[in-house]
Amino acid sequence: MRKQILIATNNPGKVSELSELLAGSSIDLISLADRPGIEEVEETGTTFAANAELKAVAYALQTGCWALADDSGLEVMALGGRPGVLSARYGGDGTSFPEKIRLLLDEMADTKAVDRRGRFVCSIAFASPNGEILFTAEGVCDGVLAETPRGMGGFGYDPLFIPDGYDKTFAELSPSVKRAISHRAKAFQEIIPFLRDFEAVRLDPACSDA
Ligand code: IMP
Repeated sequence: MRKQILIATNNPGKVSELSELLAGSSIDLISLADRPGIEEVEETGTTFAANAELKAVAYALQTGCWALADDSGLEVMALGGRPGVLSARYGGDGTSFPEKIRLLLDEMADTKAVDRRGRFVCSIAFASPNGEILFTAEGVCDGVLAETPRGMGGFGYDPLFIPDGYDKTFAELSPSVKRAISHRAKAFQEIIPFLRDFEAVRLDPACSDA
């Protein structure tokens, strides 16, 4: 029997990334887009892990599904780890990513820091339909910030981020490279063995008729 997990995202890229990793299993992934009317959960936590957990619990309880949530962002060492959990909101609501990148570069210039190291972090959390956290993981991708944005691919801060071992930004590298080394890929890869064991034992088709 097919089984379902709700991925707490509207981003089809995240769903297809995880689907690829779960290929061959009996798990089907649905996203928030498949459940219209769900109330959006605010990311009020001060850490990626806290936000992933609060979203997994809240969406599981709202839907009665097994739910997997993630929270991610960019930490810049010279800025004490900012923008961090505020990455999506950096510069205020309505600020475009080219503007956020410009602001970040200006802030870096103001600090006169020589340290351009940064890292993308992704925390994930998996909750049961009754809101119990059963698994958490974190993936990190270390790198440096480019002097100026480069590349047309990817999204968000990708044009600024050069992962360690490469001389191109995430926006210049092919999507397959990013999928192999990204913070999100690392976090997702950690949960795959757990889900593959788990599907046989406990996962029931709790939300299959939604
Ligand atoms: P969320 O976890 O999808 O809410 O992402 C939070 C924010 O972190 C995004 O809006 C981006 O600003 C940033 N971010 C997370 N992952 C990436 C990435 O892989 N590339 C570029 N920006 C990212």
